[in-house]
Amino acid sequence: MDYLPVFLQLRSARAVIVGGGRIAARKAELLVRSGADVIVVAPLLHEELSSRVAAGELTHIAESFVPAHLDGAAIAVAATGLREVNSAVSEAARERGVPINVVDDASLSTFIFPAIIDRSPVLVAVGSAGQAPVLTRWVREQIEALLPASLGSLARFMGERRRSVQRALGAAARRAFWERIVRGQAATRLLAGDAPGAQRAFEAELLISQLTTSAATGGTPLGEVYLIGAGPGDPDLLTLRALQLLQQADIVLYDRLVPAAVLERCRREARRIFVGKRHGAGQERTAQEDIHELMIRFARQGLKVARLKGGDPFIFGRGGEEVEVLLRHGIPHLIVPGITAALGAAACAGIPLTQRGLAQSVTFVTGHLPGEDTLDWRMLAQSGQTLVFYMGVGSLGAIVARLRAAGAAETLPAALIERATLPEQRVLRGTLGEIADLGSRAGLSPPALLIVGEVAAPPAEPAMIPARAVAAETAADLSQPI
Ligand code: SAH
Repeated sequence: MDYLPVFLQLRSARAVIVGGGRIAARKAELLVRSGADVIVVAPLLHEELSSRVAAGELTHIAESFVPAHLDGAAIAVAATGLREVNSAVSEAARERGVPINVVDDASLSTFIFPAIIDRSPVLVAVGSAGQAPVLTRWVREQIEALLPASLGSLARFMGERRRSVQRALGAAARRAFWERIVRGQAATRLLAGDAPGAQRAFEAELLISQLTTSAATGGTPLGEVYLIGAGPGDPDLLTLRALQLLQQADIVLYDRLVPAAVLERCRREARRIFVGKRHGAGQERTAQEDIHELMIRFARQGLKVARLKGGDPFIFGRGGEEVEVLLRHGIPHLIVPGITAALGAAACAGIPLTQRGLAQSVTFVTGHLPGEDTLDWRMLAQSGQTLVFYMGVGSLGAIVARLRAAGAAETLPAALIERATLPEQRVLRGTLGEIADLGSRAGLSPPALLIVGEVAAPPAEPAMIPARAVAAETAADLSQPI
């Protein structure tokens, strides 16, 4: 270990920054956030710093650096960009025993700033001993994605209840209790923004711990079900909350539409159960009832069950039925939305689902058409809108025929998007009159979507962007030190 990571309490302590540029401004911001009394020594200030001075957040000493500026400092930063000045600050700081960071120069520093993930009061600091700042930032991004935005509120929730738990439970039981809070429903509720639900779960856990003498060795936490939308297929299109809950689940019940790449994002120890298999024609009800039974059984065993569905659980996903069953059995649950296939496909094919002048509305329609359906085809055939048909591969001919019969033009643009967002994705474009034929000639197979409407017209020829303009813009972005 080249450095000792510590958290410094700097509230009202004197922090001296030498230098008045952009980098100094960034350090100043950090030090102000930590509650330090920040003093900036520099003849001239970057406008960000001068506005902070005007706001009374920091003090400006408009002078060139002299060692006496560090008298009484608890911490010092040199960010002048001038090596002689930086080493003078470094030397003066060392003489006074003041911890010093010289930006971008570990040899002149006695401490370095880590990359931080701030979920106050929870703080995560990442460093690479100054050797690979870009890698450090990458590590930070990975952790950032895993930690819920509201982690701080969970820490506060626990902090506020520490005393009462101390009074209610013996020392041995307390640890097991808090473990169950962190891993259980109280935490998931709170992180999902449901404070009253978290309080109820907390009280239930406390009661169980008080009643169970074996609580010290760990009673079972209360089970629950997470109804999670897995998105259209690309694992990077999972929401952060989906990812966080998949990392906690003990059991994952997943559908046919959920690809292996998404399942890989589940906790390694989680048991994965495929529930997408049909029991044969006409027996789908049984399969759905089996899923209900599994969810309830596992949750009652105190397990955390992720019910992972393609796209969004509430769009042609039977999520409503599952929620009804969970409510009926009093099983606590959370619903996590996912990117529905229509949105994934539209993005992949570059089709804006609504567009001024072309489409004022978009309708998601089931393409699973029994002999008689209750859809209002006259309304669907009207112009100025976009239609997205799910589950329509087997009935493309029928969809087109019904739209045409209701008055839709044969020349209306249409697109078929197969396995959207997945590596093997295909996009076929044509007119309403020819699209069914195009689909069958290409051997289209589910999952695929049909999009109908003016917005589905092929894009205009790509505009040429001068390569030099792009390069100049990129270079400007990289002008900051990395
Ligand atoms: N709940 C899902 C839809 C389930 S119905 C969602 O919100 O997306 C199943 C239908 O969704 C498939 O028949 C197909 O029409 C569509 N679908 C799902 N994933 C798809 C994908 N990656 N590409 C194209 N269509 C997809």
